[in-house]
Order: sequence, then structure tokens, then C-alpha cells
Amino acid sequence: MIIVLKPNATKKQIDHLIERIKALGLKPMVSKGTERTIIGVIGSEDVLRVQPLEVIPGVEKVMPVLKPYKLVSREFKPEPSVVSAGGVKIGTKEIVIMAGPCSVENRQMLHDTAKAVKQAGARILRGGAFKPRTSPYSFQGLGEEGLKFLREVGKQIGMPVVTELMDARDIPLLEQYADIMQIGARNMQNFDLLKEVGQSRKPVLLKRGLSATITEFLLAAEYILSQGNFNVILCERGIRTFEDQTRFTLDLNAVPVIKKLSHLPVIVDPSHGTGSWDFVGPMAKAAVAAGADGLMIEVHPNPEVALSDGPQSLLPKTFTELVKELRKVAVAVGRTI
Ligand code: PEP
Ligand code: MN
Repeated sequence: MIIVLKPNATKKQIDHLIERIKALGLKPMVSKGTERTIIGVIGSEDVLRVQPLEVIPGVEKVMPVLKPYKLVSREFKPEPSVVSAGGVKIGTKEIVIMAGPCSVENRQMLHDTAKAVKQAGARILRGGAFKPRTSPYSFQGLGEEGLKFLREVGKQIGMPVVTELMDARDIPLLEQYADIMQIGARNMQNFDLLKEVGQSRKPVLLKRGLSATITEFLLAAEYILSQGNFNVILCERGIRTFEDQTRFTLDLNAVPVIKKLSHLPVIVDPSHGTGSWDFVGPMAKAAVAAGADGLMIEVHPNPEVALSDGPQSLLPKTFTELVKELRKVAVAVGRTI
């Protein structure tokens, strides 16, 4: 249930309403917009049948939420959300590019890649320290050492960092070393992990599951918001279909669809979405044209020897050329990079 307050509702009226909601054993989640305040009510709404809230002063209307998610919905927050990570804002007119290697392999390669992508125009450095690999025999990431390299290099080059979290026990480490905690596609429905990052206030980059519908994706985000962490960025990274020419099928429909349904910023990862470096550019451009708020792109100084995802990694030079092209597309759709 969503309660829309009158534009002139006073603070006293809003506080009173919040008290009433709590007294009914429900949880109020307040969204203060520029025009008016909206309160999302969480919990079993049956009680509201006998205790109507419409009669409380300051309330304009009480709307049932027909969709399964509330806090991520546009009904709850009509204005787009902006997530701030290490001084970079995601969800504004500026399209934010996150770039870097799939895995942090060593300090030197991370440094060289960071320097090149920053120079090209990327704002956030990516790199995995905990890697979700299909085979247990593949490189699993450097763990805490990788996080330290990320933090050091990020500081040196002047870039906030995003890295994947796979285990809730590592949240304190990521709180210390990262600016954005990434929840990978394979963990999108790890509901306990989602609840745990919901308890943190660190921004979360939530990637769409390999076979998740958009509704399931938004419900996964709802898990995080329902715990009080509203700093969520969604990432379309391709889904499993019958098509086998590409690693996944990048569902760019998701961008306008999510923009319509939700206030959360949406970025696109054409690297995992295609699996081949030569398809990354065209799909990155298409993502910008489709209205994405950002991109996540894998870049490696020598993809041939990459410990993970070499075939989909761009060389720094190719990435630099791509950003120049992306700037033109951004301008054409009224954005900047
Ligand atoms: C990644 O970004 O390195 C990654 C593993 O992505 P995904 O979870 O989308 O496969
Ligand atoms: Mn990767």
C-alpha cells in the first residue's frame, strides 16, 4: 500500500501518520519528493481494512499496490533516484562508465588498466577479487589482496571502485575497501545475501540473474530496499535464451521497461552480455541510445593472457576509441559522458 500525502501536509501530520502506521504493526518507508511525500507501508495490509488511513489529516489518497514490489516502484518514488558512490553520481544526465579488468590479477595490470580507462573517460574502476567461476578449477580471484590493490590503485588514479561480493561474511571487507558492492548475476536470488547488503548503506550494484524475469529482478532489488538501503543500481548483463552465437542475449528492452517501472538507475554490461569483444562496442552504443544511466565494460591490457573473460575484454586503445563514439551517441539522446 502506498499513501500519497497532500502537497501541504505538515510535518506534524506526517509524524502522526507514521506513528499510526507503526502502531498497527506495519513498517512505514518514507519517500520525500520535491512535490510531495509518499509513504510505502510494509507488512500485512489486512489490518487497514478495519483501520482506514484515508481519514488521517494530511492524507490525499491510499493506493493499493498491484505490483509485487513497492519500494522500487515509480508509484512509491516518481522522481528518478541518484546513487552517489565515492563522489560519482549515477542516475543523472551524465552516463557513468565503469571499466576495468574482469579480475584483479596483480597490482601492475590493475594500475595500467585504471590509468588508461580513466584517461579515456571512465569514472569508476571495476575489478573482481572474489570471482564466481563456473569451474572450481578456474582462477578464483585474489581475495582480500585483490581488494587492497583495488583500493590503492583507485586512490592513486582517483577513481571509486566496484567489486563483487559473494559471501555476507565479507561485507566488512568490502565496506572498508570498495565504494560499490556488486551482487553478481549468480547471486541475484541469494535472498539472505540481499538482506545483508540491505542492512549496509554502501551502494549496491545488482546484476540481473541469468534467467531472471524483470519482475524477479525488481523483487531482488526490493529485498535490499526493504532493509533500508536505497542505494541500489540495477545492471542488465544478458540473459539465457536459445541463441548460442553470443554468450548471453543482452536484453536491452529491460532498460526502458525498468525505467518505466522503477525509479532506480539502470546500467548495462555489454561485455558479459555478448561475451565477445567485437560486439561490445555496438551494444554499448545501443545501450546508451536506449537510455542506460551507465555502462560496465571489461578492459584488459593483454586479453590473450587474461585469467578470466579475455575473449570479451577490450584493449585500452579500443576502449578509448569506443568512449569517443559513445560521447556522440550520448549527445544525440540528450546525455553526456
Ligand atoms: C563480473 O562482472 O565480473 C561478473 C562475474 O558478472 P556477472 O555476475 O554478470 O556474470
Ligand atoms: Mn567477467
